[in-house]
Amino acid sequence: MTALLPAIFFGHGNPMNALQQNAWTEGWAELGRSIPRPKAVLCISAHWYVPETAVTAMTQPRTIHDFGGFPPELFRVEYPAPGDPALAQRVQALLAPLPVRLDEQWGLDHGTWAVLCHVFPQADVPLVQLSLDASKPAAFHYALGKQLAPLRAEGVLIVGSGNLVHNLRAYAWGQPSVGAYDWAARFEQQARALMLADDVAPLIQYEQLGRDALLSIPTPEHYLPLLYVLALRQPGEDISFPSEGMDGGSISMLTVRVG
Ligand code: ZN
Repeated sequence: MTALLPAIFFGHGNPMNALQQNAWTEGWAELGRSIPRPKAVLCISAHWYVPETAVTAMTQPRTIHDFGGFPPELFRVEYPAPGDPALAQRVQALLAPLPVRLDEQWGLDHGTWAVLCHVFPQADVPLVQLSLDASKPAAFHYALGKQLAPLRAEGVLIVGSGNLVHNLRAYAWGQPSVGAYDWAARFEQQARALMLADDVAPLIQYEQLGRDALLSIPTPEHYLPLLYVLALRQPGEDISFPSEGMDGGSISMLTVRVG
């Protein structure tokens, strides 16, 4: 029997993490060293949130600098990981009959490369991105994650990149060490307890979890990648939080590892 690769949700936070070394980026690098080397990575990033399901299918995806107001050195970062057109087709087949467009335009957005440049600094693991269909509810994304499960036995590391708590309006710019807002800390704690108890239904129906959840998830795109990772958990499988912390009071940097 082939060992299952873990599935990992990264809280990516500020794009500047790509250039920095801090407790979070060191945690990401340590994860990269501690897991079996994957044949390829499939990444579901908060930053490819579009009205369709698509998968990058080019042989050499470009590095996309999808942000503004950051220093020039961040715009110079390149993450030249190769694509994996065969994996893109495999994803398309696994998700059938859902139409999945083989994409030649997108590439690697910062949700992907700002984390993976620490996890796989050599950029030598083939990399494919799967979009988040913004027109679909959370349950759709969870169900899609389940359909991707066979990839874990095929040497593919499935990565979700977002943030469990992501409220930029409340973010304390320039004060990274400000304490977590009470609602952010409470929601993260509630979500962690639900994950440890393998009680996923309330996390899918997060809009019913009340005010703390609504403040923590004002828009869904940074939260939904977590549901893909949770959907990949097999019965009895471990779940752990290899790195954690709250950036600027309102961005949870929690990493969630399944398996
Ligand atoms: Zn982001």
